[in-house]
Amino acid sequence: MNEFKDKTVIVTGAASGIGRALSEELSRKGAIVIMADIHRDGLQQAASKLTESGARAETAYLDVTRAEDVQALIDKVISDHGRLDYIFNNAGIAVAGEARDLSLDHWRRVIDVNLWGVIYGTNAAYSAMVKQGFGHIVNTASLAGLVGSPTMIPYSTTKFAVVGLSTSLRAEAEEFGVNVTAVCPGFIQTGIFDAATYIHSRKDDMLAKLPFKPMDVDEAARIILRGVARNKAIIVFPFYGRVLWWLQRLHNSLIKPVARKTVKDFRELRTESKAKGSS
Ligand code: NAD
Repeated sequence: MNEFKDKTVIVTGAASGIGRALSEELSRKGAIVIMADIHRDGLQQAASKLTESGARAETAYLDVTRAEDVQALIDKVISDHGRLDYIFNNAGIAVAGEARDLSLDHWRRVIDVNLWGVIYGTNAAYSAMVKQGFGHIVNTASLAGLVGSPTMIPYSTTKFAVVGLSTSLRAEAEEFGVNVTAVCPGFIQTGIFDAATYIHSRKDDMLAKLPFKPMDVDEAARIILRGVARNKAIIVFPFYGRVLWWLQRLHNSLIKPVARKTVKDFRELRTESKAKGSS
């Protein structure tokens, strides 16, 4: 059974990475995909690849930090298509660095996109879906939303919040025919590593220290859609993500060595990068 055929789907952060791969896979499955992103050129490129192959993909320039624009997009999609079956609140950004080096502006930027962006999308879609009596809200959190992630604290803060929002809303929404899922991937090969802000550290050094090899993004999109089709509450992958999550729930101290190693590795890089004068 193909749950996505002829369904109307909004994907935010669709110009790159997971959002783009989700849009491609959804199109392949026959969905009408409204690809939304703040990156105009990337969006056009991603969408034209789809429409050239006959997919029913549309684009919408969208900054998810603007509540009125998110609402307007959802209203337009419902007015154009008569329904909204799925929204993937997926746009996200990252800042890597130690808490002692972060400004409030770093915090605000991450919270605005990763948390307020998801709240705006969830809030507007939920009202519409309750009215129509069906729909599925899929919020991209992260493994960093299940397991504490030193050196990524604003990011991890927003992702824990997205898991809380999604799992709590799921219980309220069920009776109205609305499903809610939180997606919690480990490392995925996407543009997020290029787009991230690195404080007293460098991208290449950070990538070299990743404890796990990033997963191929198309494979990630297929895993996410399989979980969504099964209406899972939380989709956690790859396998090491499930192990870390399980260890943390068993006893918090069990993942302490991983957290300690992350801090130690980062501090070695931090010292070096400070010595070289980068920030
Ligand atoms: P990406 O950088 O490849 O894609 C993110 C997209 O979001 C970009 O196209 C960007 O233009 C868009 N975006 C950023 N700010 C926006 C805004 N204000 N309004 C609209 N669009 C905006 O990164 P990705 O890895 O594909 O990230 C997608 C989601 O997956 C994020 O929420 C991220 O936190 C999450 N995630 C990623 C990983 C990973 O390892 N890549 C792991 C876990 C979770």
